[in-house]
Amino acid sequence: MEDSEAQNDEILALKSIFDDTQIHVNNSSHPTVGCIYVKPEVPATFDIQANKDGQLHKFRVQHLSPIELHFNYPVNYPSEKPPNFTLVCKWLRRDQLSKLCQKLDQKWEDDVKGQAVLFEWIQILQYEALEWLEIHGYLDLSWVYMTGQNSRLSCGPSDYQQLPTAIAGSRLVMKMDPRAVCDNQYEGDLLDVLCEYERIAEQLVFDKASHTCKVCFEHRLGVNCIQFPSCGHVYCKECMSSYFEVKITEGTVNGLICPEDKCTSQPSPGQIKELISPDAFERYDSLLLQSTIASMINIAYCPRPQCQYPVSYDPESNLVSCPYCNFHFCLMCKATYHGVAPCKMSSTEKMKLFETYTNGDDSTKVDMEKRYGKKQLISMINDIQAETWIGENSKPCPHCNAPIEKKDGCNKMSCPRCSSYFCWLCLTQLDPKCPYLHFSNASARCNLFEGLVQDDAVEVDWININGDTDDDFSEDEDFINML
Ligand SMILES: [Zn+2]
Ligand SMILES: [Zn+2]
Ligand SMILES: [Zn+2]
Ligand SMILES: [Zn+2]
Ligand SMILES: [Zn+2]
Ligand SMILES: [Zn+2]
Repeated sequence: MEDSEAQNDEILALKSIFDDTQIHVNNSSHPTVGCIYVKPEVPATFDIQANKDGQLHKFRVQHLSPIELHFNYPVNYPSEKPPNFTLVCKWLRRDQLSKLCQKLDQKWEDDVKGQAVLFEWIQILQYEALEWLEIHGYLDLSWVYMTGQNSRLSCGPSDYQQLPTAIAGSRLVMKMDPRAVCDNQYEGDLLDVLCEYERIAEQLVFDKASHTCKVCFEHRLGVNCIQFPSCGHVYCKECMSSYFEVKITEGTVNGLICPEDKCTSQPSPGQIKELISPDAFERYDSLLLQSTIASMINIAYCPRPQCQYPVSYDPESNLVSCPYCNFHFCLMCKATYHGVAPCKMSSTEKMKLFETYTNGDDSTKVDMEKRYGKKQLISMINDIQAETWIGENSKPCPHCNAPIEKKDGCNKMSCPRCSSYFCWLCLTQLDPKCPYLHFSNASARCNLFEGLVQDDAVEVDWININGDTDDDFSEDEDFINML
């Protein structure tokens, strides 16, 4: 058989096995070039994990994004030469991909030389790659998040690299195969990319399978069903569409939950949007916004920069505990929780917070209530107002120095702490047996009612006119009552 004929046969055979998402070939060009996307078979229980920012991140997967086998045919393939190829993968290091390149070379040399080899190579990548690389049970991607020398493992320009002991087992220099390409730099955080890949792959599996609706008991293809995210219960789209519309018309946005008895899981906003009319969705959206703002008041964001997890807290306390990174912090100052000790926030900072809050518009207020807690802000404001008021409106007791507020009444004061009497105007301590003498004797310089508001001042005039300011009254309360 001519090489060109063998090449065409191989392409036809591959296209009959794999669909358009799995193989791209251009055989109108010379040489024929193509790419095969090989999804490695993942063991029944398999995790992706990585140490990232000092935290172990871990999630279970059933799918890994494909290893790409890019190839072109030399003129003398398969009679003399194997296809030229590169291996491209997001989650394998260059040293691992280099080992796979060697494995493919070896297959050609040992078994298949002179015959079409691509199908054999696909089999290796699909069923043997993880085993060959000794990846069992989990895939560790911590190397992606290492900094410094180790980070060059992925895309370093050098073809030779010294592997760290942790990876190579012993310090050795390994030749990096130029056909090994680690492609993890361009789509954002690799863990996020693989997590999203898993979600989409699972959705495809779901869409192709048949499911029984738990409401109407019809068997439907997954594309015509929805699955609630946290409980996994499945219903047909028709049943859920009418169920959602009814709930939203009733205005019960929080009642939009899985209809299964005792189940409380909620559909994602995307699922709802897909199933209801645009009008109903608009109504749902505004209802949701209202109820979210109300419930968000008890959410604080973890202050650790790498965490930022939304944490719900008990409004009765300043303690917030992040369930994600275990950081315990103070709701007000966001520092490590400090118990009953006052916040390290300076009084200027507090004052600034106070002014921003009291002068802010409604959305500023809502934002601040989310960040600091409404109850905490109000109690802080009360404290600041009280401090300011005391500063302006209190005087120290001349006997014990306690700050005494004068709210109303006359200038004869009694100290709630030491019970001594004194004059508010000149701070002279008064004779407890006859405290009014200070205001009424011949040499009195202080007026019992000086500084009172207008209504009281009228009465003061009346008292003065009648000269009825005897010292017989032991309690000014009795005195006032008699007026
Ligand atoms: Zn149904
Ligand atoms: Zn459910
Ligand atoms: Zn946290
Ligand atoms: Zn604090
Ligand atoms: Zn006192
Ligand atoms: Zn006085």
